[in-house]
Formats: sequence, structure tokens, C-alpha cells
Amino acid sequence: MKDIIESLRKRIQDAAIRCNRDPGGIRLIGVTKTKPVERVEEGIAAGLTDIGENYIQEARDKIAGLSGADVTWHFIGHLQSNKAKYAVPLFDWIHTVDSLKLAREINKQAEKQEKVQKILMEVNISGEASKAGVSPDNALSLADEISRLPDLSLRGLMTMPPFFDDPEAVRPYFAQLRKLARTIAAQCLPNIRMEELSMGMTGDFEVAIEEGATMIRIGTAIFGARQ
Ligand SMILES: *Cc1c(COP(=O)(O)O)cnc(C)c1O
Repeated sequence: MKDIIESLRKRIQDAAIRCNRDPGGIRLIGVTKTKPVERVEEGIAAGLTDIGENYIQEARDKIAGLSGADVTWHFIGHLQSNKAKYAVPLFDWIHTVDSLKLAREINKQAEKQEKVQKILMEVNISGEASKAGVSPDNALSLADEISRLPDLSLRGLMTMPPFFDDPEAVRPYFAQLRKLARTIAAQCLPNIRMEELSMGMTGDFEVAIEEGATMIRIGTAIFGARQ
């Protein structure tokens, strides 16, 4: 596992240097959905500092089992509003806020927990019907609404592009997310910082880094294929 993570970090560094970026500005999130807590622990022992989970129930057990570990937890799955009350106490970051209803619920739970919840807005750049995320056309108005919710801190955007075998085919979607973040940043909304782009997975993270990713979400390349 240590070798795998080291070689991944080398690839991250190479991609960053290719486009004159500081490799330190790219956070590697190990995605552990469906993998048992022992594997997550192995990943942490091998140097992972950030872990991404997709399902609340599964994450709850793992986070409880790893309560002593110094880990930043990221929720990267689809979140239903009625599950916000579980997500807020568990996760440092929630990447998948895509509606005002969900944002309001997270805000309410964060207030109860006396926490400012860091969030990203998930954008459905491709417009595929099967994908979660706010449409690019509605992203600005959602950001505006979120800026009024005091217990949320919106830090950037996240996307899941369509799947292609060729990572170059994904590049335009990553580029569009970066442009959208810039458009939102230009509005100077209070209480919002467009500094994070959560994009790039096992098959396309190098292209994502070239297009500005600050958080890459890697499962298969670290933990192997999922069932
Ligand atoms: C599963 C998952 C990943 C990791 O995908 P890999 O291709 O296994 O690296 C990243 N992001 C999200 C939202 C996921 O659900």
C-alpha cells in the first residue's frame, strides 16, 4: 500500500509540475466505499490523510472504528436532506451539495452542532440525466442562496464527468468547472471562497490536475477494484 501511494503521489507531483502548479496544493482523497475498515486503516498507516466515503451508514461504522486516527473525512456520495443530520457530525467536508433544500438542512444541523460546515457545490457539467448536481445555469443562484446561510462555508465546486476510456475526452468538463468557479468567484458573494475544485478519479486525475483540481478522489488505484 505504501508503494502504491508513493507512486500515486509521484504521478500527482509530475502532473502538477507539468503545469507549473505546487503539488502541495493538491489533496489526495482515498475513496474507501465498500472497503472494510481494516483496508482504510492500512491506507492511513501508509500515509493517507484524507478519506472519502459515499454512504452514511457505512461511513458511520468506519469513522467510529477509526476514532483515534488523524484523518479529514469527506462525504462524496449523494446526500438526501433527511440524512444531513448524520453527515454533519461525521464529515469535515461535504462535496455534494446540489440543492437549496439540502443546503438549508445542512445549515440547520451545523447550527445545532455549533459547527461551520465546509461544503462544495456539486455541478452536473455534462447535463446527463443520471447524474446528481446542480446545472451550470443554476449554480450561480444556488451559490448566492448559500452565501446567506451562516453555518455553511462554501469553498468550491465538485463534479463527476461522464465516463470515457480516454481521459483527454474528460478535459473539457474539468475546464468548464474551473471556468464556472471563476464566474462565481467574480460575484464576490459574502462568506464564499471559490478555492477548491474536487475533480479527477483513478482514470483521469492527471488531466484534472492540469485543469486545476485541488482535491482528487482516488479509489481503485489505491484500494483495487470494487465488487
Ligand atoms: C467511487 C468514487 C470515486 C473513486 O473512483 P475511482 O475510479 O475508483 O478512483 C471518486 N468520486 C466519487 C464521487 C466516487 O463515487
